[in-house]
Amino acid sequence: MARYRGPVCRMCRREGEKLFLKGERCFTSKCSVERREGGPGQHGRGRQSFSDYKVQLRAKQKVRRSYGIMERKFREYFKKAAKTKGVTGTELLVNLERRLDNVVHRLGFGSSRAQARQVVSHGHIRVNGKRVNIPSFAVSVGDVIEIREKSRKDVTITAAMASGESRVPEWLTLEREAYRGTVMSMPVREQMPQSYQEQLIVELYSK
Ligand code: SF4
Repeated sequence: MARYRGPVCRMCRREGEKLFLKGERCFTSKCSVERREGGPGQHGRGRQSFSDYKVQLRAKQKVRRSYGIMERKFREYFKKAAKTKGVTGTELLVNLERRLDNVVHRLGFGSSRAQARQVVSHGHIRVNGKRVNIPSFAVSVGDVIEIREKSRKDVTITAAMASGESRVPEWLTLEREAYRGTVMSMPVREQMPQSYQEQLIVELYSK
């Protein structure tokens, strides 16, 4: 499974905003976006040009990097969304939200999507009673996602659950004591980050 292995905070600085890729650190004064002005690299503080292409590219990179997905896989998500009857941009975001690693993160079982991905791939998660270790697994309405009993004392998971309020969206419910969450409905656009500009992604890929 390919994944980005470079400096993570650099991606936030490139997009000019917090993408919350490092868990709790993102909520502290150690966050690079708060400590350092401008983009990364030698010319990060230089004059920026804003062609249509660049704006579209940045909109796409922001979403892709937020979910921690490589370009090829992201394109696959786009193609799948374009084939559905709904609004392509919204369908794209819904399919990204349905990823198991994202749901595990949203339920607070992983402090970041990267950590949630590790929790899934290490086999700590059960979906409807069956062990699932595929981060891209798409959840459906009614699915029950829980931490495997043996894994409930795992330090990564307990630390993630203990650190701060979990930010559970309305389309999921969490039973913290039972280490279990349920998918109550599919996410709707209003329940997803408003800073995403999915229409620009559609324009970029439709060229
Ligand atoms: Fe981004 Fe988090 Fe790093 Fe801040 S601490 S730059 S939000 S990954």
